[in-house]
Amino acid sequence: MNTARAHRQSTARRVEGRAVRAAVTRTAASEADIFARMHQAVLDRRLEPGMKLKEVALADAFGVNRAVVRRVLARLSYERLVVLRPNRAAVVASPSVQESRDIFAARRVVEAAIVANLANSISRAALKSLRVLLRDEQAAYARGDTRRGLQLSLEFHRALARHAGNDVLADFLGHLVARTPLVVLAYRSGSGDSACADDAHARIVEALGRSDGEEAVAVMTAHLEHLEAQLDLAEKKTSAPDWATLFAAAES
Ligand SMILES: [Zn+2]
Repeated sequence: MNTARAHRQSTARRVEGRAVRAAVTRTAASEADIFARMHQAVLDRRLEPGMKLKEVALADAFGVNRAVVRRVLARLSYERLVVLRPNRAAVVASPSVQESRDIFAARRVVEAAIVANLANSISRAALKSLRVLLRDEQAAYARGDTRRGLQLSLEFHRALARHAGNDVLADFLGHLVARTPLVVLAYRSGSGDSACADDAHARIVEALGRSDGEEAVAVMTAHLEHLEAQLDLAEKKTSAPDWATLFAAAES
């Protein structure tokens, strides 16, 4: 048996198999793939509130027809990341002040429950993987790779939810976390960038390692309050204009 030839043949078969699989994946997964890429672009803060999402331009960019783009936009609208407008281009959602406050309030409740659960039940393997995630996150910020740092920061919150073993809570938190970058972009103030770049994540993992649920909940709550406090969610942004003055000025 010529082993070199057999090796060459099996390598050729493997390469061919990979190419076929890649082609199949490309056609079959395009809608899911486009959804995932746009979803990720929201998480990465590349899509900003109010940005127009033109069907034709997106269809061209992804090499698909407009029907596929429309289905993706409909799914993103269901997740409240996009707003569909009749006879006009869809836009990236701009959360209102009230909605932004509600998202943070909901996150505080859900994430406090998650870490309280975890403190009693976390496995050694889960703790270890959280520590690895934490190290990667800190390394990304330290080398100035903010985009990767932000991705890992969001992933930290989602990982806690997954390890807590309640799929409903994890799913719910996933939706809340996905909407947070739009809130940050809409209301970011000059003083900070509302990233999880302080030591709160490390302190949460430490508390979980000691099975100290009370401390984990306290740090998580303060962490989310801190992120919200860095935003400019002043009520003035929602108050209605003084119509009398407004029209008086226009008519005089
Ligand atoms: Zn965080």
